[in-house]
Amino acid sequence: MAKGQISVQTENIFPIIKKFLYSDQEIFLRELVSNAIDATSKLKTLSSKGEVKGDIGDLTIDIILGKKTLTIKDRGIGMTEKEVMKYLNQVAFSSAEEFLEKYKDDANIIGHFGLGFYSAFMVADKVEVITKSFKKDPAVRWTCTGDPEFEIEPHEMTERGTEIVLHISKDSKEFLKKERIEELLTKYCKFLPYPIRFGTKTESTWEGEGEDRTEIKTEVDNIINHIEPLWKKKPSGLKDEDYKEFYSHLYPYSMPPLFWIHLNIDYPFNLTGILYFPKVNNSIEIQKNKIQLYSNQVYVTDDVSEIVPEFLTLLHGVIDSPDIPLNVSRSYLQSDSNVRKITSYITKKVAEKLNKTFTKKRDEYEEKWGEISVFVKYGMISEDKFYDKAVKFALLKNIDGNHFTIDEYKEKVQELQKDKHDKIVHLYSNATKEHHSFIESAKGLGYDVLEMDNVIDNHFMQRLEQKVGDITFVRVDSDIADNLVQKDDERESVLSDKEKEKVEGIFKSILPESGGPHMELKALSPNDYPVIITKPEFMRRMKEMQQFQTMGSNDMPEFFNVVINTNHPMVAEKLIRMKGQERKEKFASYLYDLARLNQNMLKGPEMSDFIKKSLDFVS
Ligand code: ADP
Repeated sequence: MAKGQISVQTENIFPIIKKFLYSDQEIFLRELVSNAIDATSKLKTLSSKGEVKGDIGDLTIDIILGKKTLTIKDRGIGMTEKEVMKYLNQVAFSSAEEFLEKYKDDANIIGHFGLGFYSAFMVADKVEVITKSFKKDPAVRWTCTGDPEFEIEPHEMTERGTEIVLHISKDSKEFLKKERIEELLTKYCKFLPYPIRFGTKTESTWEGEGEDRTEIKTEVDNIINHIEPLWKKKPSGLKDEDYKEFYSHLYPYSMPPLFWIHLNIDYPFNLTGILYFPKVNNSIEIQKNKIQLYSNQVYVTDDVSEIVPEFLTLLHGVIDSPDIPLNVSRSYLQSDSNVRKITSYITKKVAEKLNKTFTKKRDEYEEKWGEISVFVKYGMISEDKFYDKAVKFALLKNIDGNHFTIDEYKEKVQELQKDKHDKIVHLYSNATKEHHSFIESAKGLGYDVLEMDNVIDNHFMQRLEQKVGDITFVRVDSDIADNLVQKDDERESVLSDKEKEKVEGIFKSILPESGGPHMELKALSPNDYPVIITKPEFMRRMKEMQQFQTMGSNDMPEFFNVVINTNHPMVAEKLIRMKGQERKEKFASYLYDLARLNQNMLKGPEMSDFIKKSLDFVS
């Protein structure tokens, strides 16, 4: 038996491993199973080159739970004594202590720090490695109790492969529980390329019919990784059903996805995966952390925020890349050129897929637009590069349910809706029921109205105004229809200036004197309402922005204009001819209430009062 010291720069690496990695202890299993997979793949390669002779036999990897031990056993290449000394004893952890010290508060990063084999010491106070190389060398047994000293001795074993026996420490007893190990294996090893067996399980089948029907129970191998990683297959050989089925394996309780994108690239970096567009609610229930990141089919994390552009973290699916450095800090990831290339590759692929669906199957695309619009709009707001591509396939929907691209819509409305500043006014409503009368008035003038009722739309419209340049969005209730698209032409007034003064006097006396709405007399179409309340676009946006910034609290007063239509017969004929100041004021205030009712501004006692007044009028 030989004794020796593990050559690490710092003697106390093990206590450091234990202390700082405590919160992410479970990754030891991922690391050890990955090593077993690597050893198995290497064997397979050597065999295919003829360097390992004969039948290589069953390559299943076993995870065996004992009373106090957990064993990972593979039938891979194994190690000779020399290799054990070389690989397991010379840990190049020169800067490990410094690294761990630096990132000790960020358990997540540390979890990604590939400690490999040594992570075994996070959960075990003694580790045995029993191994026999595929070469002729005899088997050896290496033992280490978590300090830098180790023992190595010959061992009786004829079968090729490696067994890592973990003597689980007292504080890590959870890893002696069957359920916990099964959970971890399912999490990390579900898609590994060689079978991982964790004991056996009972399967029941039924034989016979009717009363003779009997249940037959059989013990079968409990293979963890029975689902094939679909992303590794050639897209050309896959059907829609395959993608849908795989999705339901990943997210068992979700609705079927809308689209998917199969990623497959091997230069200048290696990346495969499938990204799914999930079905989402209009209210964007933000479901981040649904994309799983794998490195050579080993699960790493579901936090892909550094690799996938922010707006795409709403997608679901898997990304697999051995080229994403997992062992380093976040700030490094952000500046890593591979990661940046990956990010822009994914953005490009998503844009291409959407563009292809849009050009080839526009009907289908329009049908799904309600659901995908969130991704597209979010992407256009947050990523310039994506904006440039998406501006060709982003859609605007009008209240009649027709869809247009941004260019198509400009083309459609520019003749009638260009204002005196040469801006093409895009009218919209975010509440078509409430804005019904405003929409009707706008339509009366031949205008088109868009539906913009998603939470993201305010930002989206602002983005378009800023990018497209010659368009402006105006909510349909922000002014009287005649003024929505500001032109120079004035309508002729039915009333004389003197009569107008009289009307103004009446309304002034019923509107609050200070801090009240701004009043204006206008000669509008007799078909418009007699009194109209509008909420100017600019003031409304200010208020909405303030509300957004203060998380809904709302101390900016509501700002609105009152427009008196002096051409409406109720004003131009009835009001002006009415006898008695009191009657006139009562009538004017009734017209004002009607306008407030139309803007949903009559609440509580004011509403009751209005109903009473109405009853007086009709009786
Ligand atoms: P890494 O896997 O990142 O190289 P590890 O510390 O996990 O680092 O392992 C060090 C080396 O030990 C491996 O590169 C491999 O050569 C050897 N090794 C570890 N586990 C096994 C195993 N199960 N079978 C054969 N060799 C192994």
